[in-house]
Amino acid sequence: MKIKKGDIVLIISGKDKGRTAKVLKSLPKEGRIFVEGINLKKKHSKPKKQGEKGQVINIPGSIEVSNVKLVCPKCGKAARIGYIIEKDSLKNSKKQNKFRICKKCKSKV
Ligand SMILES: [Zn+2]
Repeated sequence: MKIKKGDIVLIISGKDKGRTAKVLKSLPKEGRIFVEGINLKKKHSKPKKQGEKGQVINIPGSIEVSNVKLVCPKCGKAARIGYIIEKDSLKNSKKQNKFRICKKCKSKV
């Protein structure tokens, strides 16, 4: 999955369209992510003790990863992501490293 925890993303569809926020968690198998403050769902918590009031807490709901675009930390634009494979710089190393790149500014992100 192209989007990882800690990325800043732009929401491109749904009720939070146009907002940018940080990815809290990604669920690669489901293709969904949790984004800070996005798609909040109200949850009523019951009082734990007698005499206490129940509270309403907002918990983020997951959204489909196709509903966001990564905001490139280098150029600050919502960009499409590509991948480049680079060979390890060590001689005789067969190791390959995969990097995400911003398609706008070509930086590794
Ligand atoms: Zn960029």
